[in-house]
Amino acid sequence: MSRLDLHLHTTFSDGSQTPTDVLTLASKAKVTALAITDHDTISGLPEAIEAGRSFGIEVIPGIELSSRWDNTELHILGYFLDWKNVELHRQLTRFQDARHVRNPRIIEKLNALGIHLTYDDVKALAGNASIGRPHIARVLIEKGYVTSTKEAFDRYLADGAAAHVPRELPEPAEAIAVIRAARGVPVLAHPSWLDRSEGIFRVCEQLKGVGLGGIEVHYSTHRPEQTAAYLDVARRLDLLVTGGSDFHGVTKPDIEVGIGKGQLKVPEALLEPLRKAAQA
Ligand code: AMP
Ligand code: ZN
Ligand code: FE
Ligand code: FE
Repeated sequence: MSRLDLHLHTTFSDGSQTPTDVLTLASKAKVTALAITDHDTISGLPEAIEAGRSFGIEVIPGIELSSRWDNTELHILGYFLDWKNVELHRQLTRFQDARHVRNPRIIEKLNALGIHLTYDDVKALAGNASIGRPHIARVLIEKGYVTSTKEAFDRYLADGAAAHVPRELPEPAEAIAVIRAARGVPVLAHPSWLDRSEGIFRVCEQLKGVGLGGIEVHYSTHRPEQTAAYLDVARRLDLLVTGGSDFHGVTKPDIEVGIGKGQLKVPEALLEPLRKAAQA
């Protein structure tokens, strides 16, 4: 059955598959339209759009921006971006620069723990990608220090783990503004990450006040009751509903394009309201 997938990572950030690979997988999964949402970069779009043409799949220009929320992260997806916008490029360069400050400091901490790797090892693996912790995790796996991405995060890279270094991050309002300035629609990614003390309704209400347009209701790891709860939040706040797999390839080996862990089904009817909101 045909479907959408509005949350996908490629080799241009921390995914293991190229945009062309992702389009090939999407075609097999009967995905009719998708969004490439790499972290802090739109560099994968030209290849994705080109591959989309040959598969007859619409490629929506997207992005995923990280922001700071108390002592955790909140991710904002952006859809239908004017991706040639000069100011957008300037802002993304700023976010990239913060990564290049942070990554060598993570390497230093790992070295101090007796782990032998260099930033050049990571760059060799990542190429021109927007480099993140999952790349460092893959080098740790290749060198035999850990056996999985999860182990790398639990032992070294996660918040509070031995080699964690915070990255300078924008406030959610700023991430939302960057997307709006490029005529995109900002959407709260994987709201389940925030399921702690504050209600997701209150978070969304606050973010809507600074320009949030939607919420990622359908997501690979959402249980049916979570999907229902987020759908209810979207209705009450008049937010758009989106959904996607958050495919990363080998970094998240249990998640597939289009179908997530098998249960994901992002309805095609969600696309036109999102497009209309971007054109408004
Ligand atoms: P960074 O962009 O360098 O801060 O890395 C964040 C990315 O790492 C997230 O977008 C996820 O793809 C991945 N990630 C974060 N936490 C974990 C975890 N505990 N296990 C596996 N991957 C994770
Ligand atoms: Zn990622
Ligand atoms: Fe995310
Ligand atoms: Fe993501």
